[in-house]
Amino acid sequence: MKTPVQIVGAGPAGLTAAITIARRGGKAVVYDRRAEVGARFHGDFQGLDNWSTKGDVLDELESYGIEPSFKFAPFNEAVMYGPDGREYVCRSSRPLWYLVQRGTTPGTLDQALKQQALDADVELKLGTTVKDLPEGGIVAYGPRRVDGIAIGYTFETDMSDGAFAVSSNALAPNGYAYLLIWGGRATLATCMFSDFGNGLEYLERSVDFFRARAGLKWRNETRFGGDANVETRPKLQRGQTLFAGEASGLQDFLLGFGMRYAMVSGHFAGAALQNGDPDSYRRLYRERLWSHTKAGAVNRFLRTLAGSRGYEVLIKRVAKSKDPRELLRRYYSSRWWTHALYPLATVDSRFRRTGVAIDDWWDRT
Ligand SMILES: Cc1cc2nc3c(=O)[nH]c(=O)nc-3n(C[C@H](O)[C@H](O)[C@H](O)COP(=O)(O)OP(=O)(O)OC[C@H]3O[C@@H](n4cnc5c(N)ncnc54)[C@H](O)[C@@H]3O)c2cc1C
Repeated sequence: MKTPVQIVGAGPAGLTAAITIARRGGKAVVYDRRAEVGARFHGDFQGLDNWSTKGDVLDELESYGIEPSFKFAPFNEAVMYGPDGREYVCRSSRPLWYLVQRGTTPGTLDQALKQQALDADVELKLGTTVKDLPEGGIVAYGPRRVDGIAIGYTFETDMSDGAFAVSSNALAPNGYAYLLIWGGRATLATCMFSDFGNGLEYLERSVDFFRARAGLKWRNETRFGGDANVETRPKLQRGQTLFAGEASGLQDFLLGFGMRYAMVSGHFAGAALQNGDPDSYRRLYRERLWSHTKAGAVNRFLRTLAGSRGYEVLIKRVAKSKDPRELLRRYYSSRWWTHALYPLATVDSRFRRTGVAIDDWWDRT
């Protein structure tokens, strides 16, 4: 009997890796320090990006054996505001992203992945903290250093379904604030890449902004928060151990849409180990994700240099475009100038590190 592949972290990366291994005839055991899958999140809405490839993200996930058994809503339209509050509306004939819910309740992405893993005979060991890297296994324990934070509220509302985003350093330093409404529930958050100490102040300003501009109305609001770890050069492998998702620093450097990176990298890590060829993980990564890593790093570099105005240029172009999905895809693909600027972006990101390390990661609550 082959020994099961040990996977640390039952997030989207770890569970996708486990499902891949199990569906290919292998055995996987997934450990998570939390008592339930999805407990890192709080019922907040997140967007599964559908603009970074020509094909649809749900088709890509299905090709990896991940069924869309979670609740999701396609979003083809968003209202965006520039730093001075000017409004732009972006419309696309195909979904720009799919809204999903994160957390422990039925219908969330997390619970759907958990069920698919159990159905594939993956063993789950919840409430189990792993302190040593599993040799020959997969590390998918999520962020280890804080490069960005998002804090916000989830709440009930009578507002109609919709998506709103604003890029302004006064509301979200080097980031953006968003309001997502779906079926009487909503998430409002500010996502920032610096000045974390004043996060609550930015959050309250974001609430005021959406009250004034989007007619925000809420009841039963609950505050939540979380962090993100982004690397311009993700760590993919140490010896025979593979790193997937945010544990490797794989994230969307510009906007923080990390779920797709987590699931794609988890699938590749699982496939590489199940094929008995861990080194092939690097090749799979280079073919599918490397150009996104580079483009994301360069986009972030330019955003930081240009300030909120840089986002406004992007927003204007997206709003004017007949095919905003395609326009965004090009921003997320590597081009000649991305190659040229990537080394600079890498140095710049090291220089700007917040220095907040999650070195006590196994004790975090
Ligand atoms: C507030 C917020 C909003 C976001 N919005 C979006 C969005 O709109 N779109 C998007 O695509 N992405 C978004 N993201 C990012 C996205 O959630 C992450 O990129 C994604 O969840 C990463 O998946 P992962 O599997 O790599 O890690 P995680 O989801 O962090 O899973 C890691 C798991 O490992 C477990 N773990 C940690 N340490 C140990 C240990 N030592 N032993 C055992 N288990 C351990 C944790 O409990 C956790 O369950 C958001 C993130 C936050 C915080």
